[in-house]
Amino acid sequence: MTFSEFQRIIRHMNTKLFKFSFLLALLISCSQIEIEPINSSENTQSPTESSQSNIEPKPVESNPIEIDKKEEKKEVVAKIPPKIEHTPAVAAYCKKVDKYFEKYSWGKSHCENFQWNHVRNSFWGNPIVWHVFGDEKRVKTAPEKTTMILCGVHGDEITPIKFCYDLLNDLKNKPEITGDNLVVIAPIVAPDSFFRSQPTRTNARGVDANRNFPTKDWDEKALKLWKHRYSSDKRRYPGKKAMSEQETYFQVNLINRYKPSKIISVHAPLTLIDYDGPDHTEHAGANQLLIQMSDKAGKYRINNYPFFPGSLGNWAGNERNIPTYTLELPNSDWTKTEKFYETFRTAIYHAIGQTLEQNSDQEKVSNSKESKLDDDKVL
Ligand SMILES: [Zn+2]
Repeated sequence: MTFSEFQRIIRHMNTKLFKFSFLLALLISCSQIEIEPINSSENTQSPTESSQSNIEPKPVESNPIEIDKKEEKKEVVAKIPPKIEHTPAVAAYCKKVDKYFEKYSWGKSHCENFQWNHVRNSFWGNPIVWHVFGDEKRVKTAPEKTTMILCGVHGDEITPIKFCYDLLNDLKNKPEITGDNLVVIAPIVAPDSFFRSQPTRTNARGVDANRNFPTKDWDEKALKLWKHRYSSDKRRYPGKKAMSEQETYFQVNLINRYKPSKIISVHAPLTLIDYDGPDHTEHAGANQLLIQMSDKAGKYRINNYPFFPGSLGNWAGNERNIPTYTLELPNSDWTKTEKFYETFRTAIYHAIGQTLEQNSDQEKVSNSKESKLDDDKVL
């Protein structure tokens, strides 16, 4: 055997040896994978990852749970609604609402969970917002199904503000109550009056937002009545002229926009439901609803109070024939709010579900009755 033949044989052997070694190494590595303990991944996983991967979606009231049947492993997946994006102004507003909820020990408002409509600010720059439940496109085709609920018109009547937030959170969790109706809720109509250490009836400019509506009798009577009958009581100041205030603009525009078939304005502390609007000969449904709401709230007292120059009841109920209910809660004791909402919950559900026929002349100002001035009670 020559030296070159010897070298060729050695090279051939090396190649075979290399292939053999490679195959051997591959076999060993495969066998190692097989024999690796199944739970090894658990042992190496950090506690956080482990707890995340093993977490079971908890039923969250506002997060409906869906079962994806296509998946082989039938996993229960919590469907988390997309986070609502707020403008900086609305985000700051919600923080402020929560701050005041904390002050009154009301827990969380969940203000940030609602899609707020924000067009107008108060004199001190607080957003005056509203939220809509239901399909807003229906407004044009079925305004008779629209209920408007206003709270916080007088900022020192604080229980109605919590009432509106209780209602907002309740309706959010129970879409079946709204159904195919539309519910428009403005929880704090006069934020400047509520967002202060001592809340006030009047707004930042010292005007009573429920005396500033542009009723037909405003120019003739509002200031005269205030001076002579109410001895220029600052709490009842109607303003220098009608519609001088942002809170009034807000309510007038909201009513003109949605043309509700009924309005419920929540106040305190007179413990009654007052009704302004077409009487029973003109609108039986509206009057029936008044009695039904009272019945559902444990025979809550009905009292037909007079309306005033510049009041919502006069402008919307009397002059525009929109059934307007003023719900006066028993008091402004912030520790009783839960009880108040519970008392009226079914009455409000019922009102939302009632389709009231609209007066075809609603947009025209009716031949309104004159403001009656025979009572001192302040709504
Ligand atoms: Zn009031």
